[in-house]
Amino acid sequence: MTTLPDRRLLLVHAHPDDESIGTGSTMAHYAAAGAHVTLVTCTLGEEGEIHVPALAQLAAAEADQLGGFRIGELTAACAALGVSDHRFLGGAGRYRDSGMMGMPTNGHPRAFWAADLDEAAGQLLDVIREVRPQVMVTYDPNGFYGHPDHIQAHRVAMRAHELATAEGVAPAKVYWTALPRTVLEAGMSHLTASSDNPFDGVDSIDDLPFGTPDDQIAARIDGTGQHAAKEAAMRAHATQIPADSWLYAIAGNFGAEFMGVEYFTLAVGERGPGGGPNGWEDDLFAGIDVTAPQWAVRLPEQPGHDLADPASAGDGPQRAAATAGLR
Ligand SMILES: [Zn+2]
Repeated sequence: MTTLPDRRLLLVHAHPDDESIGTGSTMAHYAAAGAHVTLVTCTLGEEGEIHVPALAQLAAAEADQLGGFRIGELTAACAALGVSDHRFLGGAGRYRDSGMMGMPTNGHPRAFWAADLDEAAGQLLDVIREVRPQVMVTYDPNGFYGHPDHIQAHRVAMRAHELATAEGVAPAKVYWTALPRTVLEAGMSHLTASSDNPFDGVDSIDDLPFGTPDDQIAARIDGTGQHAAKEAAMRAHATQIPADSWLYAIAGNFGAEFMGVEYFTLAVGERGPGGGPNGWEDDLFAGIDVTAPQWAVRLPEQPGHDLADPASAGDGPQRAAATAGLR
């Protein structure tokens, strides 16, 4: 018998490191609180830039081993976040990092950008059937900032939600990651004086692909108690985030708030009770009766997608997560 905690959260991300940068505090917050946190990563991030000179030869244009290396980085990041249930969509390596929009890598035979939507959504649906999350988190239709794999992750997640709705197993709420305009403005003005300003040359936040009016934000998750876990998870992605990145510098200046607080818009479902001038929820499960019979995990798992069975799981962390996390 598989028993899972009452509260179950599913996050769908594009590349290793997105989970830590975008939702690391939320993941650590819920994992620490005893919720079941499932991370589905859609690609291995093969096309990422490499910020560790000694590992430069792993690059896509050379040995093309970065994806495999990043499995180890993601495993370490998940350990830092306290998350043991991690899978790659369709198994590790099924979908490849598509690279930036318009690059030839968009046309790779395994590029996630070119994935068959229903096939990929079906793979995510298998996870939804198994774990029965009440809440799913992914990106907005622009993938937060326009990367093709982020846009595709959004499409796959939303299509999987449609398919799950037809089966009566859909998460009650779907959230999209977001950054309130007031928080973005505060960050930008703070960084103006910095020598390492990631917004250098940006005159107005209207020129940025993200920044959501505060009244459209639905939830503010305060994971400030977990900011150290989030930073440790980010540091686990050393090939992607330089040790002297502005991300760490700004964290030092803003303190726990920058690392620890994450925001979301609500795309599907009913908003629960909240507070403050905008009525922001402080819990992604707000308003959901997680112990209602409809959320009982149906047992046993259906044959064919028993990811808790090591024999049917993929390699590496997926296999380890399946054995450690679900039994
Ligand atoms: Zn990404």
